[in-house]
Amino acid sequence: MNIVLLGGPGSGKGTVSNLLEETQNMGHIATGDMFREEIKNETDLGKKAQEYINKGNLVPDDITINMLKGKINQFKDFHGVVFDGFPRNVEQAKALEDMLEEQGQKVDLALFLDIPDEDIIYRTVKRRICSNKECGAIYNLEYKKPKVDGICDICGSKLIQRKDDNEETITERLKVYHEQSKELIEFYEEQNLLYRVKLHASVNITKEMIKEWLENYNKNR
Ligand SMILES: [Zn+2]
Repeated sequence: MNIVLLGGPGSGKGTVSNLLEETQNMGHIATGDMFREEIKNETDLGKKAQEYINKGNLVPDDITINMLKGKINQFKDFHGVVFDGFPRNVEQAKALEDMLEEQGQKVDLALFLDIPDEDIIYRTVKRRICSNKECGAIYNLEYKKPKVDGICDICGSKLIQRKDDNEETITERLKVYHEQSKELIEFYEEQNLLYRVKLHASVNITKEMIKEWLENYNKNR
């Protein structure tokens, strides 16, 4: 099963991805991390992407798609892949569809985490992440506090706040997100692949919830 995660910045996609990875044995591709990794490893695609980024341009879709192709192959033995951060628009969704089709695969579910903007802003400002990249645990000073202030429960590393997790940046990102996602949500709706989960930031997403969503989705198809 391949899942596309939809939802604004700070809507909980990271948490849902981690839980899907853990409970469904799925691979997880976060596009932002993928770019950073390819650039750090100085792969051919990473170097190309870096050129665009250096000029302040967006990385073209064909480069991203080729990176995704490589990533998917790494996850061959998993029960599908969770896509987090791609596609962001209909054009990219179609490109993803074509690429998966070449591999005899498809998108099986577009999971839309629908959270009010005010919630997203509040949650984002309170978010802290584990500084240990291997761990990547996500905390929230309001909703999911670490046991010891500033320290990751799982690996004991320091918790940090992402530079972008402030109100001004998040409000701007939400504006862009709404402009882009409207069509994308309609696109998956038309294909009968959309499953919308109405959430609030105060809700702690659990393994049981993920299981229930997947069951409901499959039942209603
Ligand atoms: Zn940690």
